[in-house]
Amino acid sequence: MPRKFCVGGNWKCNGTVEEIKKIVNTLNAAADVPGEDVVEVVIGPPFVYIPLVKSILRPDFAIAGQNCWVKKGGAFTGEISAEMFKDLAIPWVILGHSERRALCGESNEFVADKVVYALSQGLKVMACVGETLQQRESGQTNDVVAAQTKAIADKVKDWKNVVIAYEPVWAIGTGKVATPAQAQEVHAALRSWLEKNVSSDVASKTRILYGGSVTAANCVEIGSQPDVDGFLVGGAALKPEFVDIIKAAN
Ligand code: PGA
Repeated sequence: MPRKFCVGGNWKCNGTVEEIKKIVNTLNAAADVPGEDVVEVVIGPPFVYIPLVKSILRPDFAIAGQNCWVKKGGAFTGEISAEMFKDLAIPWVILGHSERRALCGESNEFVADKVVYALSQGLKVMACVGETLQQRESGQTNDVVAAQTKAIADKVKDWKNVVIAYEPVWAIGTGKVATPAQAQEVHAALRSWLEKNVSSDVASKTRILYGGSVTAANCVEIGSQPDVDGFLVGGAALKPEFVDIIKAAN
């Protein structure tokens, strides 16, 4: 079964009402993007703008939260629970982004617990993994992404609603994109890790997205690598070129 291409737009902590209306208008006006049978598009606005985006975004594009709490909501000031996404019919959540791992101290185990809880609430998860520059330069890339994936695999039984986003930290927001060969190498290593440690069924069906300085100019070549099943896009997701990145699914 071929893996459906998936393009996520991670808006991070950016935008105003006016800017967001402008981006959504651009997405809504894009008439020539491939259909939902070819590409799954998932937009991740900051939490407070989710209801606005939901009310104006074209219905063939889905919405994601950029994070959620690790268990049922309650006395957790400042957090957003998986139940709240369910309540608002928001189907996706991005978890384990490297900015949260680095800046908010989210460990592999904490991210894995979040993945498990979000899945238990019926959400679909984009689980992010990726190595730092130092880890790459010291030859640890495959071990780092394997350890991040193992923490999730140790706890997740059903992978149907999990997408992995491989995002090398050194490529995020830096303009230093991985070469298509570098991306393919890590994606293939991740897929073979899944095959050995989870199952060949999960390895062949789980989508692995590339993220890190994806642009309209580099997406076609990266997206045509056999183990690259889409993108998670930050900076360029705030620009009209995101439409061209979606079209790389063709
Ligand atoms: P970038 O961010 O496209 O701006 O590099 C990607 C991400 O952090 O998901």
